[in-house]
Amino acid sequence: MANPINELIEHLSRLPGIGERTATRLAFHLMRSNPVFREGLSSAIARLSEVHLCTVCSTVTDRDPCAICTSHVRKHEVICVVEKPSDIYSIERLHSYQGVYHVLHGLLSPLEGIAPGDLRIAQLQKRIQEEAPKEVILALSPTLEGDATSAFLVKQLSAYSFPISRLASGLAIGSNLEFADQITLGKAFEARTRVG
Ligand SMILES: [Zn+2]
Repeated sequence: MANPINELIEHLSRLPGIGERTATRLAFHLMRSNPVFREGLSSAIARLSEVHLCTVCSTVTDRDPCAICTSHVRKHEVICVVEKPSDIYSIERLHSYQGVYHVLHGLLSPLEGIAPGDLRIAQLQKRIQEEAPKEVILALSPTLEGDATSAFLVKQLSAYSFPISRLASGLAIGSNLEFADQITLGKAFEARTRVG
């Protein structure tokens, strides 16, 4: 068996954006760090297997339904549609959105062969039918895939009378929601425009 340092470097270097050099630096940093910190880190990683998808909004959660879906202070009549669970973290950091979420787990992409059936669109439709929301906000990245997905959803939901809005174009075209800074994302949220 490889020595623990090599094994850790090998694992870390498989993470997105981490090359072997960074992995080596991180591994040696961890080796020198406080054992309590290391134990906390490894137990947080181990506990990831307790995480599953919320049966209401499809975000990742360790309890079902998730904390947002069961919250009494959230506005359950406003649903914000996002591409991935990490987008919820970006929006929650703004501390201004009070509604609930729905995670699609991807965006439509004819090039990559990602069709509506591959996303959690049917679950969204079912939920809208049951919950009759007052507003749906499409917080999808202003990329080709984000635009295609928004257009598809607007068409799918056109039979309903509630407003559908999309984040304002303050976000750089082609950029990913998760890289937007707080101020830009906050402004885009405030100035969302009605698309359906
Ligand atoms: Zn949920």
